[in-house]
Amino acid sequence: MALIKCSECGKDISEKAANCPACGNPNPNKTVLVEQTSKKWKLTKLIGWVVALVGLYVFVLNNNNGGFSNPFTGLGFCLFFVGIVVIIVGKFGAWWTNK
Ligand SMILES: [Zn+2]
Repeated sequence: MALIKCSECGKDISEKAANCPACGNPNPNKTVLVEQTSKKWKLTKLIGWVVALVGLYVFVLNNNNGGFSNPFTGLGFCLFFVGIVVIIVGKFGAWWTNK
């Protein structure tokens, strides 16, 4: 386990620690990591929303045009479902990594 110097008080802290145990200053390495991870999950959720909305749009559009006998209705429904799953994965992933 590597040690880094706290930028506030100069004490050695674990690079895996969230804050300095002496002064409570947030570990700069950790903060950057959390920001990068949360951005990654935000992007995942954004992609999920886009896929779900496109899927919903395709579904609604084609549902009025032949219902499920139109293959695009099923495709839209599948896209919507995949989008929802991606959003859930994004929410769960953000929660899991920020724990
Ligand atoms: Zn400190």
